[in-house]
Amino acid sequence: MLNRHESREATGGELHGLIRQLFPICRSMTGDGVRETLARLQEFIPLEIHEVPTGTKVFDWVVPAEWNIRDAYVSDGSGNRIIDFKASNLHLVNGSMPVRGRFTWDELKPKLHTIPSMPDAIPYRTCFHKEDWGFCLSQNTYDAMEQRDNETYEVVIDSTLEDGSLTYGEFTLPGETDQEILLYSHICHPSLANDNLSGISIATLMARQLLRQSRRRYTYRFVFAPATIGAITWLARNQSQLHKIRHGLVLSLLGDGGPITYKKSRISNADINVAAALFLEKSGFEYSIREFEPFGYDERQFCSPGINLPMGCLMRTPSGEFPEYHTSKDDLDFVKPESLANSFAALSGIIGLLEADEIFINLKPFGEPRLGKHGLYESMPENENRLEFQQAVQWVLNLSDGGHSLMAIAQRSNIGLPLLRQAADRLIACGLLAPHK
Ligand code: ZN
Repeated sequence: MLNRHESREATGGELHGLIRQLFPICRSMTGDGVRETLARLQEFIPLEIHEVPTGTKVFDWVVPAEWNIRDAYVSDGSGNRIIDFKASNLHLVNGSMPVRGRFTWDELKPKLHTIPSMPDAIPYRTCFHKEDWGFCLSQNTYDAMEQRDNETYEVVIDSTLEDGSLTYGEFTLPGETDQEILLYSHICHPSLANDNLSGISIATLMARQLLRQSRRRYTYRFVFAPATIGAITWLARNQSQLHKIRHGLVLSLLGDGGPITYKKSRISNADINVAAALFLEKSGFEYSIREFEPFGYDERQFCSPGINLPMGCLMRTPSGEFPEYHTSKDDLDFVKPESLANSFAALSGIIGLLEADEIFINLKPFGEPRLGKHGLYESMPENENRLEFQQAVQWVLNLSDGGHSLMAIAQRSNIGLPLLRQAADRLIACGLLAPHK
């Protein structure tokens, strides 16, 4: 048997390995990069692939033309590729229309993007929903190009933008009830490790872990879709099923060295908010909890007023708050196996609380029951936990009036949910407590 430390190290290694495998693929809002990524995930879980045709109306949006890219470069008069998509897929503005032609420096300049404050980094840029093109490069390369007088450049973008489909993956894992926990990750960024790949790999390995588990109370639904339009497409196609979703999390940015951040659902008293807070308080991890705001990732869609699902967002450093965000510095070294493993443990812990949570009813609510008479003390441990266990029993009996779940009792009593659950199981065995119908 592995101890906890070794098993966390193994998880971190496996998560990082999956990120490494997926990193080179040029994903986009649509196209073969998304398909190839989902196909790799199918080696871990039996993901169902959905293709939604270009032109399909989804709420206020329309599924766009499908984009595919084979090659792209800017070469100088001697044929040297100065900017080469094959060296990094971030070099091409993601979604660029096909282009072939010769350009002077002055003509080319407006199509180039750099980050002057990070001169050796390549920015990540997109031009979805409009016909445009461009290249991203380091400020250093840009400066060197600017030194070359009268150079003309050959620009080739061998892309297609035509009718096709938007691709997303979905995996439903049935539980004892049809009430669902939804876990969502976006899958549309090219070679960026923390942004998209950390969430994708954690969701995938969590799905596999739950799949191997013998018992699950909830049904789990994992969705891997492009940001914004993908989430909107999924919601539009599943609108009649959304009432089954009891809890949910958007998973993204889970591999950097920052503290864990939980962003609350728009529904402020949602159980997922309680579960995340309860877990993080006792986890020993550095963390912060933020209120909902309509910015960030696809919690924007899941928490839009017409949808309003009880979904939060689990991440580490939020988007836009670290300099590597949307640059070539969000690479394989930026995501740490240890951070990935701790994020995975946090997700697992939060799910564990939701699974263990339940509402009970005290069957002898008139005065305190005589616990000795019902055999409650007989098999209790004679150790230092005895007093805490006894307090857990009193809290469960007192608040099990049908209006408090175990998580609510944990919040009120400051006793960990696992111990409360143990107390509840013991009380059920003694005939003093029953699940609330
Ligand atoms: Zn992003």
